[in-house]
Amino acid sequence: MKRHIILHPDPRLKKVAAPVADLSDELRALASDMLETMYDAPGIGLAAPQIGILSRLIVLDCVKNENEAQRPLVMFNPEVLAVSDDRSVYEEGCLSIPEQFADVERPAEVRVGWIDQNGNPQEEDFAGLWATCVQHEIDHLEGKLFIDHIKPMRRQMITRKMIKMKRDLARG
Ligand SMILES: [Zn+2]
Repeated sequence: MKRHIILHPDPRLKKVAAPVADLSDELRALASDMLETMYDAPGIGLAAPQIGILSRLIVLDCVKNENEAQRPLVMFNPEVLAVSDDRSVYEEGCLSIPEQFADVERPAEVRVGWIDQNGNPQEEDFAGLWATCVQHEIDHLEGKLFIDHIKPMRRQMITRKMIKMKRDLARG
């Protein structure tokens, strides 16, 4: 089932999400809904707070080439375990901040640990777009958006545009 994505600015996007204690069927169904919502958008990552659920759960799939197989990843309680000294810059966007993009600098490579949908601990090194995406999604669990990494002037400009967009959407 597709879920409704919350748009910035919204207090729910600024909250720290709570760790997931046990994997229930309900949580697995939620992860599958999040993947469906993400692919439908379309997007390459989605965090539970973006659909109004303050739990530490993210989904991502950064395979962009249509000839390549999809690689949906479901991460419960994801944690950045190590980061590279090397940094890289990507133009980021967010399903909660549609049509707005900005360059964000982050560590180029990260090691991430998480619990998968079967309850097994996983650990993997990510680079390139995957590294950027997983850091962006984990940020959501801390109530942090990609615009929190950019200059205040630009952040305020994007927020003003979003307020206007939400007003227009509400008018219909
Ligand atoms: Zn986002």
